[in-house]
Amino acid sequence: MVNVDLSKKDSVRQEKGRKTALKSDLIRLSDFHYHVHSQTTKRDYDVIKTNGKWSCSCPDHRFRHVCCKHIHSVEYSIQLREEVREQKKVVLSPVTVSDCRFCHSQNIKKHAIRHNKTGDIQRFVCGDCHKTFSINLGFEKMKSSPETITNALQLYFSGESLRSIQQFLKLQGVTVNPSTIYRWITKYTKIMKEHLDKITPQVGDAWRADEVYTKIRGEMKYVFSLMDSETRFWIAQEVLDRKEGADASSLFRKGKEVTQTKPKVIITDGLHSYSEAYRKKFWTVDRRDRTLHIRNVHLQGDMNNNQMERLNGEFRDREKVVRGIKKVDSVIIDGYQIYHNYVRPHMALDGKTPAQACGIDVQGNNKWLTLIQNAKFSSSDERGGYAR
Ligand SMILES: [Zn+2]
Ligand SMILES: [Zn+2]
Repeated sequence: MVNVDLSKKDSVRQEKGRKTALKSDLIRLSDFHYHVHSQTTKRDYDVIKTNGKWSCSCPDHRFRHVCCKHIHSVEYSIQLREEVREQKKVVLSPVTVSDCRFCHSQNIKKHAIRHNKTGDIQRFVCGDCHKTFSINLGFEKMKSSPETITNALQLYFSGESLRSIQQFLKLQGVTVNPSTIYRWITKYTKIMKEHLDKITPQVGDAWRADEVYTKIRGEMKYVFSLMDSETRFWIAQEVLDRKEGADASSLFRKGKEVTQTKPKVIITDGLHSYSEAYRKKFWTVDRRDRTLHIRNVHLQGDMNNNQMERLNGEFRDREKVVRGIKKVDSVIIDGYQIYHNYVRPHMALDGKTPAQACGIDVQGNNKWLTLIQNAKFSSSDERGGYAR
């Protein structure tokens, strides 16, 4: 039975759904679960996704099987976020020699060859702006090639020990000490971090905070982490000595700085530190602007717990294989954060990286290389007329 009136009602519901989405009466609990507050009945409804379809606990949906305004508001809010991400998209592309790094002219020629221990470095000159550059951006004066170094980064953060990386490189004819490999890792992590800190990820509005126990510089420490539940972006971390009585407010402050926003919901365990940090950083007098704090939740089918378990796993593996070197700096945690956000494809995101899900596209087959080149380029003296 097709009925004009019905479709009219449907568009009214869509419109109401849009308003609900904009008025932030909607709370994301997981990929498959939203709470929507009804303005008419003053009740909360559960909008849940099963087998790719949304259903709602409101009477409209349950008894009349219509796509209610609550479902519309969930769909609309997802669409809205996608649009924002598309508008604010950041692309980091590999630096190639097909065009001038400064003015993007195609009119480039081979220039001088610079000799160093590992071989020759070709420099190029632009026929239009006359600037010169090498393709070795970020790896100048290094004794090993960009490929060797980025291979080592990838192996380390995916769980290999420094010794086994050393052996792997030896098979490829490269002889280095574990301590050299460790220096590469810290050096390039710092370079990448400085650049990536300037980029704002378009995260979702439900975050999760949790803490992981790990060994840093030979001592057991807690890594407090803040993660976006929708995109899995690891927003911020703070290394602290203890769990009880720790001050988590600087974690929340960092989260606000990194994202330039605050979440609608923050989900934490029952740790007192979070309640205190919440009051300092997220609570507002105005109810409409206030972040909701959910403590100790164990929702059925909730993905959030798994996200943190995974992170736990990433660190725990590390403890076993770090023996080659005595002290592990907290800079290594920054490296993990970069690997997690920008390099490692995530199954729950259809193979995208969390950064990609936040509208930051790191292009090229070797993402480490792209990240280092871009970081180095934005900080180098050669900056000149670069605007991409
Ligand atoms: Zn409904
Ligand atoms: Zn040029």
